[in-house]
Amino acid sequence: MTRFDAEVGVVGVGTMGAQTMWQLARRGVSAIGFEQFAPGHDRSGAGGESRLFRTAYLEGSHYVPLLRRSRAEWERLGADTGVRLLHMTGGLMIGTDGSTFLESVGRSIAEHGIDHEFLDTDALRSRYPQHAVRAGDVAYLDHESGYLRPELAVALAASEAERLGGVVHRRARVTEIRMTDAAVEVHTDERVFRFPRLVVSAGVWTSQLLPGITPLHEVIRIVMTWFPTATPERFTEDVFPIFVRQSDGFDISGWPSIDGATVKIGLNNGWDRVADPDLLDRTPPDALFDEVRDAIRALVPGVVPEVVRAGVYMDGYTADHDAFVGPLGWDDRVTVLGGFSGHGFKLAPAMGIVAADLATAGATDLPAAFLDPSRFSVNVTAADRLRFGRRVSR
Ligand SMILES: Cc1cc2nc3c(=O)[nH]c(=O)nc-3n(C[C@H](O)[C@H](O)[C@H](O)COP(=O)(O)OP(=O)(O)OC[C@H]3O[C@@H](n4cnc5c(N)ncnc54)[C@H](O)[C@@H]3O)c2cc1C
Repeated sequence: MTRFDAEVGVVGVGTMGAQTMWQLARRGVSAIGFEQFAPGHDRSGAGGESRLFRTAYLEGSHYVPLLRRSRAEWERLGADTGVRLLHMTGGLMIGTDGSTFLESVGRSIAEHGIDHEFLDTDALRSRYPQHAVRAGDVAYLDHESGYLRPELAVALAASEAERLGGVVHRRARVTEIRMTDAAVEVHTDERVFRFPRLVVSAGVWTSQLLPGITPLHEVIRIVMTWFPTATPERFTEDVFPIFVRQSDGFDISGWPSIDGATVKIGLNNGWDRVADPDLLDRTPPDALFDEVRDAIRALVPGVVPEVVRAGVYMDGYTADHDAFVGPLGWDDRVTVLGGFSGHGFKLAPAMGIVAADLATAGATDLPAAFLDPSRFSVNVTAADRLRFGRRVSR
């Protein structure tokens, strides 16, 4: 009989993996996580000090139940660790009246009764003078929005999991995953670990670990930029909510000042592909700086339009920009989570619950079926068959 190392293995203890570990540990399920760096590192999806938490979701109202469950879990993790991870500043969604963007936000609000205010052009101008409001600009102020502290959140979810009995191997790079009849094997330089169930939450490295059999479409490099302000008191979180703004041909997001000296504002587009995540070029492109400086000059005049800090990160994208979360069609002992397409951080607690549910019970009550990886077809080659071993049909 096979001796397993734990009930569940988790490959990648980043944003999603740390949440999965925490959820498993809370249920008393034994789990071993493998992280090539250490939880909370800033070398892939989760760096850069802050992440938007939005509930009036422009990506679709079907996300709202997952977002509300995530909010409750973020607050629980904060309460359990005594650290404030989620700052509910409210969120301004600023755009042109009647735009697809605001219609989509409005649909989430209407369908789910999200606590909000609608600000017409004059109200927006007088309440938020930090924004240069254009004729025709209006906004929803979503009171169920704010920001998260990503490095802290990942590190604390992992340490909470460990406190409750989970095991995290740091600086433990998984070199291979194999599926045999007896077990799902995780190979590291140290040894081979065997599990009855495996969760793969390896972010942008998913395609390296499971080449050919997951629907990760591309890896995208995303650059964050910080600007100084001479009036930091105008950008504190009590007076300056997080925002997403589509005005004047620009598409930007911003956060209140965390350090009392700079404001992080970034473009929501203009990103490029990463051929190999191990060789990410961390030098930000100059052209991008020019564009974001133009946006700052036009839209947020109280901020000095000079980039004084930049951070380069990356995320995995799918073809439809919704993640894949569910059993690997190749072998349903393996649950994969990936392709969060630039908007997954806020959802991580709900994704951790789904992964823990699937790994332990094979089903979940959370409304996440729209993320099932089987909506994509993957072309499995003969070489893939040889590489990964047995296929279990669903
Ligand atoms: C710059 C930027 C801004 C963003 N802004 C927002 C935002 O405002 N709001 C929002 O909700 N989302 C946002 N996102 C998206 C969100 O941060 C990502 O979707 C999310 O962090 C992805 O989580 P992940 O677990 O898939 O990847 P990661 O957090 O990168 O985790 C994957 C982990 O797997 C580990 N790993 C990989 N391969 C191996 C291996 N072989 N062995 C061991 N370990 C391995 C990696 O080291 C890593 O720790 C943003 C993303 C970026 C890049």
